[in-house]
Amino acid sequence: MMQWSVRRQSSWVQLAGHQGNFQLSEGGEVLKRFSEVEAVCLQALMADPLRPFVPQYHGSVNRGGNSYIRLEDLLSGLKNPVIMDCKMGVRTYQEEELTKSHTKPTLRTDMYQKMVKVDPTALTVEEHEQRGVTKWRYLQWRDNTSSTSTLGFRIEGIMMENGSVQRDFKMLTPAQVTEALLSFTKSHLHILKAYHSRLQALDEALKESPFFKAHEVIGSSLLFVHDWTSKANIWMIDFGKTTPSPSTVQLRHDVPWAEGNREDGYLIGLAALTSLVGQAISQ
Ligand code: ATP
Ligand code: MG
Ligand code: MG
Repeated sequence: MMQWSVRRQSSWVQLAGHQGNFQLSEGGEVLKRFSEVEAVCLQALMADPLRPFVPQYHGSVNRGGNSYIRLEDLLSGLKNPVIMDCKMGVRTYQEEELTKSHTKPTLRTDMYQKMVKVDPTALTVEEHEQRGVTKWRYLQWRDNTSSTSTLGFRIEGIMMENGSVQRDFKMLTPAQVTEALLSFTKSHLHILKAYHSRLQALDEALKESPFFKAHEVIGSSLLFVHDWTSKANIWMIDFGKTTPSPSTVQLRHDVPWAEGNREDGYLIGLAALTSLVGQAISQ
């Protein structure tokens, strides 16, 4: 048993998020730090047409004084998996985060430092003096310096089968994304085709989904996983910022966001991603 968990530990990888938020569990599960918002979403998704696109949710558990949600380990059964996390949507912050930054701005030094490291010229004189930025300012900067704002998704991280991980891409253009898709799949046609069909099937399921109709999906990812024995799959993960839309708002998911309209642009990103995978197939 011990050996099994050590072996799993070495192949499991987390491409995004705080490292302390996950724990490995036995029996093909991973544990993610509990969030009520995410647990409620997962519960609803287990009875939705999107269920086949979401890791199985097994409720919550307490470990060492902390609560965790129990999720199917999507890497289970894969040999030397290759993984890509694509964060979906035209923005990755909630409208509340924007409102808060206007009414009760809290300055974050850690986020200021992350920006300074990448591009000190992106900061104003005032921000340099304060040595801090609001969370919203940071998240908006990340959206605008990646393909999030323009394509409706961004590649957050890629892990190749040798365990090498790439994060913090400077990937803005469709051509750069296509190049990344080709290197991620090593141009293997059967893998690209499997991903393409899965994205099309997801699009169909989203159209049928009462959950999707009624939720603003922010900061959620599509996790692409394959190995060289030909298993390739895509899963929806990360519902920590996915909230029911107000009953007065009917979201379309395929139109641009303007403050107050709550649109997430999820389908803009899905269409762009599907088309770029399609282009990679024909290259
Ligand atoms: P953030 O909000 O910063 O994106 P988070 O803490 O909400 O991060 P997730 O995005 O849910 O965490 O997951 C982080 C990473 O963990 C994913 O990119 C993926 O690599 C891995 N991961 C998450 N859920 C699973 C799962 N069910 N099976 C396998 N790997 C997973
Ligand atoms: Mg995430
Ligand atoms: Mg998250």
